Amino acid sequence: MMELEKLDFGKPVEEVVAFSTTRGEVVAHKPYSQVNLCDYVGDDALRVLDARIMLAMQLGVDLDDLVMPRQTHSCRVAVIDECFRSMDIDKQEAALEGVDALVTTLHGIIIGVNTADCVPIVLVDDQACVIAVAHAGWRGTVGLILKHVVEEMCRQGASAGRIQAAMGPSICQECFEVGDEVVEAFGQAKFRLEDIVERNTATGKAHIDLRAANRAVLVAAGVPEDQITLSCHCPRCEHDRFFSARRLGINSGRTFTGIYLR
Ligand SMILES: [Zn+2]
Repeated sequence: MMELEKLDFGKPVEEVVAFSTTRGEVVAHKPYSQVNLCDYVGDDALRVLDARIMLAMQLGVDLDDLVMPRQTHSCRVAVIDECFRSMDIDKQEAALEGVDALVTTLHGIIIGVNTADCVPIVLVDDQACVIAVAHAGWRGTVGLILKHVVEEMCRQGASAGRIQAAMGPSICQECFEVGDEVVEAFGQAKFRLEDIVERNTATGKAHIDLRAANRAVLVAAGVPEDQITLSCHCPRCEHDRFFSARRLGINSGRTFTGIYLR
């Protein structure tokens, strides 16, 4: 069995399961390990397929019920509906290219994103049976990807005030040192810098709280703050359990964060 880190919402949501994968067997200093579902980060294709099969079997779904986009730090959201499901595989792949968030109302379909330090977020309006997942690195955060996700969820029947959101393992503020151009980008996007930026007194470098920044985007989009759960896991701090690109390099595995309606 694969060890999954369960993601909890502020209130129990019975028909929804949300989780992040862990690395499985790890060989010290190797950038990949037993469990990596991402097929565009240089890992062995058969090992990636193995991990996908293992997860699908564990969750009791078919391999093609496991849907993940080809992420590019964009702010594009794709809806996984019956129309998508009826397309042939090439068209599905094209529809998932350059996408960083997914929304669905279908039951039994696992939608997920792959991350290594960036923030993965799962969202649900259980009354409307609308779920979503998103990948927010600093570019996606500045581009307000979560605002776009909430808007799409609402087009599918959700109400922002009912949405529960939970973040998966994501880089902590202490680990997330950034250049001043990144701070500038957050300032231009009208984030309240005093809430998300701290300076290391020894190095003078800026550190951004990416989780808090995304929480601010959700709150601005109408999601109540007490319905947003931040992760207490940082991949860079816990790199034996979750993949960290800052620790292992860009060519390394990814943590898969998924959500599905039973
Ligand atoms: Zn950390």
